[in-house]
Amino acid sequence: MITIKSLKGMNDILPKKSVIWQYIENKIKMILYQHLYLEIRTPIIEQTNLFTISLGQTTDIIKKEMYTFKDKKQKQLTLRPENTTSIIRSILENHMTNQTQKVWYVGPMFRYENPQNGRFRQFHQFGVESFNKHGPEMDSEIIIMTNRIFKALGVQKYLHLEINSLGSKTSRRLYTNILFKYLKKFKNYLDSNLIYKMYKNPLRLLDTKVKNITYIVTHTPNILDYIDQKSIKHFEYLKKILNYTNIKYKINKNLVRGLDYYSRTVFEWKTKALGSQNTICAGGRYDYLLKFFNCKKTPAIGCAIGLERTILLLKTTNKLPTNMKIKSHVCFITISNKKTIIIKSIKLLEFLRNELPNLIIQNTFCDTSFKKNIYKAKKNNINILLIYGENEVQKNKVSIKDLYKKTQNLLALKPLINTLKSIFYYESNYYNNW
Ligand code: ATP
Ligand code: MG
Repeated sequence: MITIKSLKGMNDILPKKSVIWQYIENKIKMILYQHLYLEIRTPIIEQTNLFTISLGQTTDIIKKEMYTFKDKKQKQLTLRPENTTSIIRSILENHMTNQTQKVWYVGPMFRYENPQNGRFRQFHQFGVESFNKHGPEMDSEIIIMTNRIFKALGVQKYLHLEINSLGSKTSRRLYTNILFKYLKKFKNYLDSNLIYKMYKNPLRLLDTKVKNITYIVTHTPNILDYIDQKSIKHFEYLKKILNYTNIKYKINKNLVRGLDYYSRTVFEWKTKALGSQNTICAGGRYDYLLKFFNCKKTPAIGCAIGLERTILLLKTTNKLPTNMKIKSHVCFITISNKKTIIIKSIKLLEFLRNELPNLIIQNTFCDTSFKKNIYKAKKNNINILLIYGENEVQKNKVSIKDLYKKTQNLLALKPLINTLKSIFYYESNYYNNW
């Protein structure tokens, strides 16, 4: 017998867990709609070029993390490692770059990484992107919105915001040269991988996790001393807005982000609660990226929240709602094995679901004895049973049994609907809003 298992670093989200995912996703979606961001869905596979052109040759994603393969016509394809570039591809292809666009997405991303706590090969991101807004007000909108999201999820106090500015393309080049000269002095302390990065893209060393060069990295020249005047103004204005709106932040001069396409503002929401997988949300401006694809300069900014890490944070800090199980309101029991009665009961169920769309009805399909059904209902905290059998069919009524009040009544359909409405009015509204 062959046993087939899921791939390393790729997880099933089982029914008990998916309610948690839905809870978090719904909270985030509500906030995004409140800010009039609309959903965009792009395919999870793209031409490999899309990523190699835009993400940067020395980034971890391009160097070692991409899931790339050839299709039957030998086309080189890649499972998306992130979604910003796919969205750019989409808005260019659909001629949407002339107006302001504010979009959000949620879905799986794929990176060939070493799976560990908070790091997987298939993981999920919730992200937003905004196009055609160049001012720092836009940067602040996204940062403030993410703050609101974490507040709504109850984990804001376990997170802190780090911000930095990478300046314009020209000033970044200037800084890169200065950084290179500085790092070269310490060449003997760097391993071959770091030396490669130092020559190819010295910025990549700034946020390295290699421990024994911490001293070198913390004493690098400060990028903020080298960025251009316009970027300084942009950054100062952003800080002013954040101060005014009481969003606390820390400036991290070594925050450069893992991808090459960023300019000006970059930011991360980090936590101390999860060990080394400490970044929950990361983003920044990418005003030059659309030019890579022969589009006019289009200012843009976005960020992505890692959902697995968000869930882990909620779990670690006890912020997951305790009763996440979707509970049935009533249990419907057919007490007959006769086909004619079973068919009638299925029709009746359809009628009930039409009349009471918010009512969650557990149908037992007469799969066990009446006694066992009652036992099961009690175990699942269901107090109301709807019973349908020979007697009920004859009278064209339904029995309603209340296990809590210990009552049983035979009701015609109209009074039955009214009774159920009066019992479940509040709860059905609750489920509607969930
Ligand atoms: P890291 O430094 O942890 O590798 P990154 O810079 O590669 O993160 P981004 O590409 O900025 O991450 O993605 C944004 C967010 O997506 C991260 O902050 C994290 O929450 C989540 N994320 C990234 N890679 C993974 C992964 N392999 N598994 C789970 N979540 C991930
Ligand atoms: Mg990474």
